[in-house]
Amino acid sequence: MWFDAHGRKHLPWQQDRSPYRVWVSEIMLQQTQVVTAIPYFEAFMARFPQLHDLADAALDDVLGRWSGLGYYARARNLHKAAQMVHDQHDGVFPINFVDVLALPGIGRSTAGAILSLALNQHHAILDGNVKRVLARVFAVDGWPGKTAVAELLWQHSERLTPKKRVADFNQAMMDLGAGICTRSRPRCEACPLQGDCVAFSEQRQTDYPGKKPKKTIPVRETQMLLLSNAKNEVLLQRRPPVGIWGGLLSLPEVPVDNDISQWCEKYLGFTIKEQHRWPVTRHTFSHFHLDISPVLITPMNNAGHKAHTMSVMEGSEWVWYKGCTDVGGLPAPVARLLAKMKEISV
Ligand code: SF4
Repeated sequence: MWFDAHGRKHLPWQQDRSPYRVWVSEIMLQQTQVVTAIPYFEAFMARFPQLHDLADAALDDVLGRWSGLGYYARARNLHKAAQMVHDQHDGVFPINFVDVLALPGIGRSTAGAILSLALNQHHAILDGNVKRVLARVFAVDGWPGKTAVAELLWQHSERLTPKKRVADFNQAMMDLGAGICTRSRPRCEACPLQGDCVAFSEQRQTDYPGKKPKKTIPVRETQMLLLSNAKNEVLLQRRPPVGIWGGLLSLPEVPVDNDISQWCEKYLGFTIKEQHRWPVTRHTFSHFHLDISPVLITPMNNAGHKAHTMSVMEGSEWVWYKGCTDVGGLPAPVARLLAKMKEISV
C-alpha cells in the first residue's frame, strides 16, 4: 500500500488516537491547513485533554483557544456537541454513525472520518481533497457542490473504500489529495493512481473538479440628484439605518420610474430649470449591481433656489455638504460623483 511508504503517520491526532481527538482535528482541518492546525490542536488538547473538559468549559474559553483559526462556528459547534455528548451519551463520544452525524458541525464525511480513523470502522469519506482525487481519477464532470455530482463522487468513494485497513486507506486518500493531487499542479509522476486516472491519461487534470458556476447577480437602477446651492454646497440625504449604506450620507435618490421634475417639486419644493444626465455608473455589491444614473439639476430661479434651500434644511436627514469630512463616511460611488462635481465647478 502506498500509505505504508508515503502516508502521514506522525500527525499529533494520529497519536493516542481516540474519537475525541480525531473529531477535534477533523473540525480544525475543515478550513485550515495541517501545518497551521498542528499547534492549535496541541494547545487545544493541553487545555481540554478530555471531552468533559471541553463540555465543562465556558464558551469564551473555547473561543479564545480558537482565536486565529477563524470560522468560529466550528468552535461553537464543538462546544455545543461536547455538551450534548455529556448529556446524552454519558460523556462518551458515540461510536454509532447515526449518533455522530446528529452532533452539530458534523456532516457525513466528518462522521465517516472520525469513526474510520479512530476506530477503523468501515465508512467512506469525501472531504475536499478526496473529491479532487476522485473527480480526476474518474473524470467526474460538474461542480461537487451540486447534489448529483457529490452523489456520484460518494458512490465512487463507497465502492473503493476497503473492508480492511479503512483508517489507512482514508488517510492515504486525504494525503494524496493534500500532497500529490494538488489543486493547480498535481504531481502525477509520484501518484500511485496514475495508471487508473482518466484525467491524467487525457492530460485534463485541472479540468476536474468542475468549478463553481459564477452567479449572475441582478441589476438594480436608481437616479441620484446632483444639486448644489449658491455656496457650492451639495445636497445629501442620510440613509436609513438598515440596508445598503445604512446610516451613511448619500445623494438624494429618485426611483427610475419617477419624473425628476415632479419629484423635486413634490419633495424639495422647487421647479427645475435644467437637468443634465451624466453617464450611468455601476457599483457592484456582493448580491447585486447598482446602476446609478446621476442627474445634475439647476433650480428655476433665485427664488426657487432659496425655497429649496429653506425647505430641505428643515429635516435632519438633509445636509448641505461643504466638501469637508465632518459628515462621516460617504459611499464610494457618491464620493466619486462629488469629486467630479467639484472638478466641473472649478
Ligand atoms: Fe491526481 Fe495526477 Fe494522481 Fe490523477 S494521476 S489522481 S490527476 S495526481
